[in-house]
Amino acid sequence: MSTPKHLPELFGSMVFNEDTMKTRLSPASYKAWKKCISEGTSLNLSIANEIAEAMKQWAVEKGCTHFTHWFQPMTGVTAEKHDSFISPAAGGKVIMEFSGKELVRGEPDASSFPSGGLRATFEARGYTAWDPTSFAFIKDDTLYIPTLFFSYSGEALDKKTPLLRSMDEVSRQAIRILRLFGDTETKRVTASVGPEQEYFLIDKDLYAEREDLRLCGRTLFGAKPPKGQELEDHYFGAIRPRVASYMKDLDEELWKLGVLSKTKHNEVAPSQHEMAPIFSDANTACDHNQLTMEMMKKVAERHDLVCLLHEKPFAGVNGSGKHDNWSLGTDTGKNLFKPGSTPSQNAQFLLFLAAFIKGVDEYQEFLRATVAFAGNDHRLGAQEAPPAVISIFLGDELNAVMESIINGTQYTDAGKRTLEIGVDVLPAIPQDNTDRNRTSPMAFTGNKFEFRMLGSSQSISGPNIALNTIMSEELEQFADKLEKAKDFQAELQALVRQTLTEHQRIVFNGNGYDDAWIAEAKKRGLSNLTSTADALPAYLDEKNVKLFVKHGIYTKGEIEARAEIHMENYTTTISIEANTMVDMIHHQLLPAVSDYAADLCARAESKKSMDVACKYEVSTAGRIAALTDTLLEQCEKLEKDLAEIPSSSEKAMKYTHEILMSDMKAARATTDELETLTDKEYWPFPVYSDLLFYV
Ligand code: ADP
Ligand code: MG
Repeated sequence: MSTPKHLPELFGSMVFNEDTMKTRLSPASYKAWKKCISEGTSLNLSIANEIAEAMKQWAVEKGCTHFTHWFQPMTGVTAEKHDSFISPAAGGKVIMEFSGKELVRGEPDASSFPSGGLRATFEARGYTAWDPTSFAFIKDDTLYIPTLFFSYSGEALDKKTPLLRSMDEVSRQAIRILRLFGDTETKRVTASVGPEQEYFLIDKDLYAEREDLRLCGRTLFGAKPPKGQELEDHYFGAIRPRVASYMKDLDEELWKLGVLSKTKHNEVAPSQHEMAPIFSDANTACDHNQLTMEMMKKVAERHDLVCLLHEKPFAGVNGSGKHDNWSLGTDTGKNLFKPGSTPSQNAQFLLFLAAFIKGVDEYQEFLRATVAFAGNDHRLGAQEAPPAVISIFLGDELNAVMESIINGTQYTDAGKRTLEIGVDVLPAIPQDNTDRNRTSPMAFTGNKFEFRMLGSSQSISGPNIALNTIMSEELEQFADKLEKAKDFQAELQALVRQTLTEHQRIVFNGNGYDDAWIAEAKKRGLSNLTSTADALPAYLDEKNVKLFVKHGIYTKGEIEARAEIHMENYTTTISIEANTMVDMIHHQLLPAVSDYAADLCARAESKKSMDVACKYEVSTAGRIAALTDTLLEQCEKLEKDLAEIPSSSEKAMKYTHEILMSDMKAARATTDELETLTDKEYWPFPVYSDLLFYV
């Protein structure tokens, strides 16, 4: 298959997108599909048949032999099972076939995917159903069909189903508000998302030599190199040729798949980079981010590199996150978080803003829980990523607007305009709100919020489900009130003022890395859930369960299953790390340092016999031997504690966090000290300066 040379032809060339559908479907079927995605109507089987046939023809022309229902189980990565298009025909031949039924529904044997106990009581089978709102695409000569994944009795077993439910719900509630402001045209409000993805690139051969990187995605040992990121010389620095060629290749692969890869640059840490796409609807953004992560790894292999998506591959240098830029937009092209130029537009903007502020304040623990997992614990609150406390950054100007509304005072816009905050006048709000605050977990950036707590490896689904649902709840409350209002203007102003007053505590414009903020946040009554073990139980808080059940996003069973899966995942991740550590200590580290100490002793012995000074050999061997024994003890304790993990998932998570993590920390400290004493020739694997400054 030849690759088109020009970007406009290349872009989306492997996607069964709107344009392709328009040329390949009958006008009636195209219209039905269009209506299905814009208004949420369903498609009948005859239309599905026609779409399936067109899809197959297109795919076969491009060399495909197989199709797969592509889904997003609770593992956080994607899954696929491939079927070929062949169907037996007369004369021992085959024809290529693909029916509407095969497009619409699949039945992978799914008993090994995490279900949090959901399927135990029903049956092990899982079903997949076509998601017509996300385009099918071709990868590796296979037609990929984005699908939902659910159990026999209809419970969601994936990350897509609840995301679609939450997108529908936030649209419904937002439209109620828009109607109150006289908007009769909007048919659909879409949650839009632009996820910025950070990653590390390291050399493949060096990677292969580190068991911890191979099994855990992060280094479990490693003394701080003489040079880290202190000089900040890597941030936005010139991109090295090897990396540049990787990035070019990655862009091309992503463009073919219709992923709007836009920006690339070096990040703060050495070997760290970032890719930012142009935003799209939350569902497509989520699918595309999964594809992006997969492609980042795959393309790296071609360049003899390894792409690390772990949140903290190396201690002591910045980890990787994912910034989730989120907003709401109408099908008529309006961004609901963009301040307007008329008082009425501004009133609407302020109402959406107030709803967001109220929602984030009320459900801060849940939002924190959506970014809680083992990898992210190394970042949040560690002075390189937002603190574990959730707050909203508004920027000086918008903050001044908020304060004047709360205080009923005048809002002055840098002396240019003075506006009375009265009953019928709202301030004109500066359109260009470009303040930046890199330390805020949730920053308003002019026309969207940037949720900055996500980890680089995680699916963006969970946090966006939460944002959409929380927003739905607040908009519903507002709509319930305002639809009944006798005096809409008066009620609206009172509502905005009251909401901002009650939830002002969640707004913080200062330095989130400052310890003083943590103390201040405590005074304000904000929660500070510093670890996954502290944060995950929020999934089961009555308030949160009620929220999701009420809006039809999760059933009680579904949300409980998710809590279970996340807790188990935490324990499993840390257990694997602990076991890897034990393995590396026994099989690599102890033998290596023992060898070196023995060698030093032998050297000291021979020097002594010749009456030569041997202070260095003797003292170093002594220090190494003492640390070696300490490491052995620490390792034995870790092994013993590993054998005693409690069986209930919440208890296991807490135990893992408190006991295993502290055992691991101790063993690492000893090892890292040993590294500084040991001859590099003896050290059993590449060290930080090799890994970080090689590519
Ligand atoms: P910044 O300079 O604030 O980082 P960018 O324009 O580079 O701004 O945007 C960062 C990310 O936010 C990009 O992925 C971009 O596509 C995304 N973004 C921009 N507008 C929106 C929006 N309305 N909804 C969601 N994401 C958006
Ligand atoms: Mg950003």
